[in-house]
Amino acid sequence: MGNDIRERLMKFTAKGERHITIMAVQGHFATSQSHINYYIDVTRIKIRAHEALEAAKSLKEKMLHHITTVDTIVCLDGTEVLGAFLAQELEKGDFQMTNAHETIYICQPEENSVHQFMFRENVKPAIQGKNVIVLVDTASTGETVRRSADCIEYYGGIVQGIVAIFSTKDKIDKYDVYTLFNQDDLPGYDTYEQHDCPYCKKGIPIEAVVNGYGYSKL
Ligand SMILES: [Zn+2]
Repeated sequence: MGNDIRERLMKFTAKGERHITIMAVQGHFATSQSHINYYIDVTRIKIRAHEALEAAKSLKEKMLHHITTVDTIVCLDGTEVLGAFLAQELEKGDFQMTNAHETIYICQPEENSVHQFMFRENVKPAIQGKNVIVLVDTASTGETVRRSADCIEYYGGIVQGIVAIFSTKDKIDKYDVYTLFNQDDLPGYDTYEQHDCPYCKKGIPIEAVVNGYGYSKL
């Protein structure tokens, strides 16, 4: 360790999808919920139009025959670009929607001062009574996904599934997870409870705190 995180980032390619890549580096990192031995950077898929399009096509294939109806995509962690491409792919066929205007809604929840997700009046019609998929960048503990699904159901939405760029889980609570990358793509990937982290036990310092937006060094 000691080298800059950015210099150590390595490229990982999705199985059978050479245009879909994420960057990751091994080390000792903390998220708000756990400690983790990889920092995963999915920025390429979030901000590059071409890669977002390829990712959207692949995610559509994974959802096909499992989810039949999508009215709304709720985007978390800055995944709106990918969400828009995914909506476009889903609108091409194979998926149904109940929206009167025959277009998929794309929105994001607002996080209030006590970190609860909420939707304002102008966005509520996109949630209430709608078939919703939740799009996240990475789902490891599932905590953020769980909070957003609770919020969507509180506003009367029907959560049809979770779509992720990276996820360690096939299922979060009762929801199926459709993902481009999982832990098998990152050798030795593991997450730990803070009190049970082998790196902490060895006295290895945390390199950076990571969340959906990136990392900040300690
Ligand atoms: Zn630790």
